[in-house]
Amino acid sequence: MKFKDKIALVTGATSGIGKKVATSLLEAGAKVAVNYHSEDSKRDETARDLRTLLTVAGRPTSDLLMVKADVSSPKETASMFKQVEDRLGPLDLLVNNAGIQSECPSHELDPDRIKLELAVNLMGPILCCRSALQAFLKNRSPQGCIVNISSVHEDVPKPGFLPYSVSKGGLRNLTRTLALEYADRNIRINAIAPGAVYTKMNPQLKDKQTREETKDQIPTRTIIDPAEIARCVLFLASDESKNLTGQTIRIDGGLSLYPSFQENWTS
Ligand code: NAD
Repeated sequence: MKFKDKIALVTGATSGIGKKVATSLLEAGAKVAVNYHSEDSKRDETARDLRTLLTVAGRPTSDLLMVKADVSSPKETASMFKQVEDRLGPLDLLVNNAGIQSECPSHELDPDRIKLELAVNLMGPILCCRSALQAFLKNRSPQGCIVNISSVHEDVPKPGFLPYSVSKGGLRNLTRTLALEYADRNIRINAIAPGAVYTKMNPQLKDKQTREETKDQIPTRTIIDPAEIARCVLFLASDESKNLTGQTIRIDGGLSLYPSFQENWTS
């Protein structure tokens, strides 16, 4: 129970990577606030799954808090952090996971869509980091961790997904800037950049042929399991990584290592 008595908030945690991170933190002993935005059926399913996990472990279901908020709303995020503190206690860990993406040629982008993606993927983490930092600094000897779920596309260009890759690029700078700003107060900020992960963000991976074609682009020929991302979050949030800050860890099977160079074509 490495995370016993730790208090964590995971955004966008009723599906995919976020749900797996929340599950792993609960399994490791933490009290967890699961943020959701819409999709009441996913909220109910997640609450049911996680309460069962707690009951089987002999723990009170009050170790789980389901908390509704649109991460891009200053008012809703402030209220979310207040609920976490009131119901679970002082925050130790924030995982900025909520994210959206959509495909569109850049010259045809609707300004409202640009605003929405930047609001959820970048403004959301900025607002949540701000509230988490306020919470950490309230303690007399502050400490705390933030893990941002970024993407390989924080570096690797993604044509047709401009707001997404721009927002993840911003997340990289957010991670590095905050890490430097708060390093002397025992607060660490890191990021994980996944490659292709099996979640509803990638519905095309349900198709066997598409899955095989995707694997052809990945040097290790694996599509990432959300559990692998969750294990890395737990490492980044633990004392085992206590001098690791401002870093992005890529979990991508080598996707970002210029796979076309695997065979020599340059010299
Ligand atoms: P997902 O669609 O299952 O998860 C995204 C979650 O964000 C959903 O639960 C959704 O309800 C929530 N969300 C959306 N808008 C929100 C808002 N305004 N406020 C609060 N929550 C909101 O997909 P996923 O793959 O689990 O994505 C999780 C994170 O991982 C995202 O940040 C995504 O960019 C990143 N990522 C995913 C992949 C991948 O291949 N799946 C690759 C790289 C990075």
